[in-house]
Amino acid sequence: MDKSKMSMSKKKTGKTNKKSKIMEIYKYFLPSAFQKFKGYFFVRLGLLVVNSIKPFVQILALPIVVDELLTTQNIAKIMHCILFIIAADFVLSVLSGFFGNMIERYTTKFDNYYKTVMSKRIMELDFQLTEDKQALDQIELARTGMSWYSRGLNGMVEPLFNMVSSIITLVGVVAIIVSSAPWLLVLIMAILIVTGKVNSKHNEIEQKFFAGLAKENRICGYMGWHLTDFKYGKDIRLYAAKDMMVSKWNYHQDIIIENWRQMGIKQLPLSLFMGLLDVVRDFGTYFYLGVLAILGKISIATATQLFTAAGTFYNCMRSLVINYQELCKRANYAYEYVKFMDYPAVMKKGSKHIEDVEHCFELKDVHFSYPGSEVPVLRGVNLKLHPGEHLAVVGLNGAGKTTLIKLLCRLYEPTSGEILLDGVNIAEYDYDEYMELFAPVFQDFKLFAFSMADNLVLGREEDARVKVVENGEAVAAKKLATKLSEVKVEEVIRKVGLSDKIDSLPKGVETVVYKHFDEEGIEPSGGEEQKLAIARALYKDAPVVILDEPTAALDPMAEYEIYRQFEDLVKGKIAIYISHRLSSCQFCDRIAVFSDGIVKEYGTHEELIKVEDGLYAEMFGAQAKYYYG
Ligand code: ADP
Repeated sequence: MDKSKMSMSKKKTGKTNKKSKIMEIYKYFLPSAFQKFKGYFFVRLGLLVVNSIKPFVQILALPIVVDELLTTQNIAKIMHCILFIIAADFVLSVLSGFFGNMIERYTTKFDNYYKTVMSKRIMELDFQLTEDKQALDQIELARTGMSWYSRGLNGMVEPLFNMVSSIITLVGVVAIIVSSAPWLLVLIMAILIVTGKVNSKHNEIEQKFFAGLAKENRICGYMGWHLTDFKYGKDIRLYAAKDMMVSKWNYHQDIIIENWRQMGIKQLPLSLFMGLLDVVRDFGTYFYLGVLAILGKISIATATQLFTAAGTFYNCMRSLVINYQELCKRANYAYEYVKFMDYPAVMKKGSKHIEDVEHCFELKDVHFSYPGSEVPVLRGVNLKLHPGEHLAVVGLNGAGKTTLIKLLCRLYEPTSGEILLDGVNIAEYDYDEYMELFAPVFQDFKLFAFSMADNLVLGREEDARVKVVENGEAVAAKKLATKLSEVKVEEVIRKVGLSDKIDSLPKGVETVVYKHFDEEGIEPSGGEEQKLAIARALYKDAPVVILDEPTAALDPMAEYEIYRQFEDLVKGKIAIYISHRLSSCQFCDRIAVFSDGIVKEYGTHEELIKVEDGLYAEMFGAQAKYYYG
């Protein structure tokens, strides 16, 4: 992690005060928002002008009407004034509605934009953080904080513009009040200070409850997804897990509801007190202005104007306080988003380029425990992978085989010891370049609910499958790339033995996998899924192929076919092959037998089979007995 990031993350984990949070939020969001959504700021400016001048229509025109009624009673003048008030109010309301509507549309755009940016960040997060409780809570806080709680970018810009609009209006009304009834300002200010303090307490209570709900919200999100995703449908039905799921969901929902209820109870006295303060203010204003009018210090028309001006003054001051507090509150929520976007990396990422040579790997005394666990999974693994070597990794369940692959692929870092690529620690290399070296098929691989072709290509060939229409050349280049990728897709599909299946589908490789979004989508069998996953690895054409239990879901014929082609599929590449079917290990140059987190035996099939009391020989014997009786 570079220094600037370190200091940023330290700052973010420490206590940051309200003002600096607001500044950081604005520094984070405004430059990009202004660049991407300029129109929004012009609309906001329009609304600011409308909101600032609106109160003056009544303040300035109403006393004229009252004065006319009490003196000359010129009906034409009175009608003109009333018509002016109505017309001005109408025009300003229409404009305000128009701008409001445009802001709504921008709000949806912001929501999509910041969600996309966050999703991208989640996908780039160091893999080991995807199971780190603190990181997961931070994701939840960022997600909810940036959506309903802060109301997104608009939610943070709105109070600022409201405050500016209030200040503009205030300048006008203060001038009017000061000239005739200065004590009115003192009375309203006093009430406002108390209201501000009470409201701040009100907000504090809400924020405290928000912070405590991250875990519960996450659990409910998880339960909600599992209850409805049909992938889990079989297990839920056959193990009658529905009731358990629903009752667990209800349990956590109840906690959330109880939290909200407690919050309501705590906030209620404060809300009531704020209502009472409103009554005191109104009474004081009427009393004071009434006395001034009776004493003849102000005319009835001026009293009317002052009533309206006092109301506007109070509303503007209140709006200043409330909007500032709202801004602090929303900034607090949105700050969780900024905190997440700057979430400190746990992995060292170098910048060294990977040379275009025949690669070799070496694991030197590698120890590893999963984050948050003391249990050693690997306890001093030493292993070499020579250029073009095909290595089988075997061992009992839980021996650490998959963990070894995860370390090799830099999904985790060794607790101690080192992994070298071409003699250099893998942490020194550019992370993205390093990832390009591997084409793994994990045991728990996942296909996406996109077309089969998209599942194989996954955006490679510079997004060849996205149609671009800006200029002829780009289209031509895209077409060529698309053609090339189509040929490659067909080739790998044939290699894994899926051609017949795909030819039988009306949409061929464009058929969508799963039925989540497309009625014509297919539900592939476990074996077909596995073939697609292998095809995806072959499509990537990376120098290191990793197959973790690659044929577990295949029928014997398909398995035989993959084995037969295995040499061809991974020719010239480093291949690591984890399998429980030991007969398949004979295809590999060497076999590493894992037991208790170390390499217990290492050699060719012929060598290991002869080791007396050897684990490999024992496992091979047991399987052979099972097959031949
Ligand atoms: P194998 O592939 O040999 O069956 P694994 O490498 O998957 O074994 O697992 C080795 C050990 O590490 C097991 O005891 C397993 O429970 C534990 N383990 C695997 N993944 C995690 C994880 N994400 N967090 C904590 N422990 C894990």
